[in-house]
Amino acid sequence: MLIGFMNNPNNELLKEIELAGEFESDFLELTIEYPKSLPSLVIASKKEINDLLSTYSLGLVSHAAWFLFPASPYDSIRNASLKEAEKIIEAAAKINAKQVTFHSDPMPFVYKREQREILVSRTIDAIDHMNSFAKNLGLTFCIENYNAASFGFADFQRLFSEVDCKMTLDVGHCHIPQIDNRYLADYLGEFKDRIIHVHAHDNNGEKDEHLGIGNGGIDWKKSLKLLKKQYDGTITVEDHSSNRKQFLLSKKALEELWEKA
Ligand SMILES: [Zn+2]
Repeated sequence: MLIGFMNNPNNELLKEIELAGEFESDFLELTIEYPKSLPSLVIASKKEINDLLSTYSLGLVSHAAWFLFPASPYDSIRNASLKEAEKIIEAAAKINAKQVTFHSDPMPFVYKREQREILVSRTIDAIDHMNSFAKNLGLTFCIENYNAASFGFADFQRLFSEVDCKMTLDVGHCHIPQIDNRYLADYLGEFKDRIIHVHAHDNNGEKDEHLGIGNGGIDWKKSLKLLKKQYDGTITVEDHSSNRKQFLLSKKALEELWEKA
């Protein structure tokens, strides 16, 4: 199991990579997003990024901005979102990231219940497009469980029967019934062969709080036992606490829990 650190896109990117190195994480999950990690900025700092990654022996995966609109009912907005997605994937490929994770559309409520089929079809079409684009550049495309209203368990089943892409399993998101309608065991059981990356953060089961590991209500002992049975890959701590040193506590907790799981 490898533990990763995610940059805060509001901070200077190179300083964030130094932080990942100083915190002795195994890899960086570079989120390529507004304002300080835009694709153009990542490409402009390509050499410095790769130098820092090698100085600290950090592996690299990437994450896209979560506020793109790949299923927007407005074609011009959807097309612009896909263009931005392509820029993110190109930037990730330029710095030799192995994989890139995307979320589903963040505004499912613009569709009425009876239009859900349209939302899901547009999402699957968008994923198909981004997945092919990533594959052509040598990157593995992952879609993350994020919000069942936008793209839920049954939608993932349909997606994987139509598109050959992978999945990032977010342990925090499937602990919030209002956000997701299935639990960790369901995802692990059903999508075993698709899950190639994991996000870990805590919450109290109501809001997507992105707390440090052990600071919310997730039963990590049980969750990691389930996960470890079939997974031994990269886990990014998506702890969004303002105190960045909280990452160290989360990392330690995760290592100890994993050891005993
Ligand atoms: Zn996540």
